[in-house]
Amino acid sequence: MLNDFELFMPTDFNEACALKANGAKPVAGGTDVYVNMHGGKKEADQVVDIKNLAELKGTSYTAGQGLVLGALTSHRQIEEWDVIKKNYYAMFQGCSQVGSVQIRYRATLGGNIMNGAPSADSIGPMLVHDAVCVVKGPNGERKIPLDKFYTGFKKFDIQPDELLARIEIPDTPANAGSAYYKYMRRGAMDLALMGVSAYVELDENDVMSHVRIALTTAGPTPMRSYSAEAVLEGQKYSDEIIIAAAEAVASEGKPRSSWRSSAEFRVRLLHDVTIMVLHEAVKRAKAEDKAQPIKQVLYKGQQGLEERPKVQG
Ligand SMILES: Cc1cc2nc3c(=O)[nH]c(=O)nc-3n(C[C@H](O)[C@H](O)[C@H](O)COP(=O)(O)OP(=O)(O)OC[C@H]3O[C@@H](n4cnc5c(N)ncnc54)[C@H](O)[C@@H]3O)c2cc1C
Repeated sequence: MLNDFELFMPTDFNEACALKANGAKPVAGGTDVYVNMHGGKKEADQVVDIKNLAELKGTSYTAGQGLVLGALTSHRQIEEWDVIKKNYYAMFQGCSQVGSVQIRYRATLGGNIMNGAPSADSIGPMLVHDAVCVVKGPNGERKIPLDKFYTGFKKFDIQPDELLARIEIPDTPANAGSAYYKYMRRGAMDLALMGVSAYVELDENDVMSHVRIALTTAGPTPMRSYSAEAVLEGQKYSDEIIIAAAEAVASEGKPRSSWRSSAEFRVRLLHDVTIMVLHEAVKRAKAEDKAQPIKQVLYKGQQGLEERPKVQG
């Protein structure tokens, strides 16, 4: 049961911005907005449906430059696009684990970013792929790196009269690999209890560069783990250095306790999942066919990890 609300469906971009500036709630796929309005909960008296805005549509990939993804791009589009599996595997892993197939057909990347949930599955992968948000209003466009876009819990660097128009993501070189792991309580549709994404470039001597690590549900916003990245940058790949990075992640992540899990358990997971995801990203960086899945195994099969090392919580 939804409360009554006034619905606008503009085709003119500036009209949509003006409606938003006057308090109308933007809706794209509606899988957060309308769910939040259910049960008589009041989210907005006015809703502006942005699905007809040409400025928010379209996807393209240009070799050497990268992706341009309209904010209305659905998770299903990302999941089914071979370019994503080949060059941006962590994004395939993130977007293909959002809700169910039905949800992924409706739900958009823009909505996932602008809902601001720390558990959002596409954000960590986009953070490690160095995504840039392009927001647009009546006065033009602004580009903000995704890792600077969140200013607090569900707070963004966006003006009342601006919409998220598109996301730009640079191309990846042949020696790059990325990975995302979503830890869930059950093997069916569920939100991330915790997640880790990683991106790494590897030279012929196994030296790592451009390392980026992002954490899901480890704080009030999706976040990068800069201290762990610094541990790995310029270092030769080894079990020991990966474990050192996992220790840094576990110290930097500040998850909270909730009914889903204690903070202590989430810190424990951050450590162990980081080890697995970094190994996977490195394996993918070395692989000739990067679109192939690499089996994700927690603990078992991790060299040097017969026992879980001690972590500072
Ligand atoms: C059953 C179910 C399962 C789910 N499972 C997952 C899951 O596993 N992982 C996950 O990450 N999420 C999950 N979600 C949440 C949701 O599907 C995602 O967050 C989705 O990406 C939201 O996209 P949307 O287009 O539906 O957003 P909407 O609901 O339309 O909007 C979400 C928010 O973004 C704002 N907004 C949308 N587009 C723009 C724009 N272009 N500019 C400015 N503001 C904008 C809206 O005002 C609103 O605040 C689930 C939801 C449901 C109902």
